Amino acid sequence: MSLPFPWQQAVWENFNHRIEQRRVPHALILNGGEGMGVERLACAMAERLLCVATHNGYACGSCKACQLLAAGTHPDLIRVEPEESGKLIKITQIRGLCSALEKTSQQGGWKVALISPAESMNIAASNALLKSLEEPQANTLLILISHRPSLVPPTIRSRCQIETLGIPGSDMAHRWLMEVAGEHAEVSKVLEMAGGRPLLALEYLQGDGLESRQHVEALLDSVRRAEATPLDAAQACQKYDADELVEWIMNYIHRLITGELQNQRNPALFHFLDKLIKARGWILSGSTINTQLLWEELFIEWSQVFQRGR
Ligand SMILES: [Zn+2]
Repeated sequence: MSLPFPWQQAVWENFNHRIEQRRVPHALILNGGEGMGVERLACAMAERLLCVATHNGYACGSCKACQLLAAGTHPDLIRVEPEESGKLIKITQIRGLCSALEKTSQQGGWKVALISPAESMNIAASNALLKSLEEPQANTLLILISHRPSLVPPTIRSRCQIETLGIPGSDMAHRWLMEVAGEHAEVSKVLEMAGGRPLLALEYLQGDGLESRQHVEALLDSVRRAEATPLDAAQACQKYDADELVEWIMNYIHRLITGELQNQRNPALFHFLDKLIKARGWILSGSTINTQLLWEELFIEWSQVFQRGR
């Protein structure tokens, strides 16, 4: 069974409290960003509602419902996600979900739908979901997992209770990482690089992400100090996944902005961040992009960020 992560405890307790009070909302947006383990929290919530013999506010793990959940075959848990990673959720998927929700639950209890990520619904799919949100069925919970809730249409957002998971305190994240990954000299470093997001930090520790990110950050530093040309840096970045690369650079910029006061007074830095957000939009939209040109343009802009206004 899924257990919420330590930094999700407050949201979890609130959820349990609502169950006890019979005030479970009809639809919930879990907003956490990537690397925060939001999917696991959503699963824990679904299991908690569907289990028929809960124990201390958690799914028991052994009743018939829990066995079906563990096997991934519980008929009253409906998952909706893009058919292909990075693609959109289609209207036919949402229509299928809505008609399933209109029927009575097969096991006689709750019906739970997990939509992930919610911002992947196209406009038509969002509109189709709206009907279900406007005419809620009893004992039905829609959980929308969202990493970028601003991209979820306001008509949907306004009909959902929104739970935002904040970045955990560094002590908690540090302790958790040590427990999961063992004593590791790089724990503080990866947490910093991951912007405090524990699962992302774990990924860096366990994968090759750490070295790649350090390489990219070193390139940014070199260009900033004019020790490398934007063209060389762009060339060196070609081997990275475009989506990941933009994310790494954005994290780095966030750290600069939150770390040093003088950076908060540098409009060029915010302008650069806007460019990155735009670039990420192009990449996520799946359009064909000449990445060499894109990185060149970004690194040229970057090389000027700290020169303006001097
Ligand atoms: Zn159970």
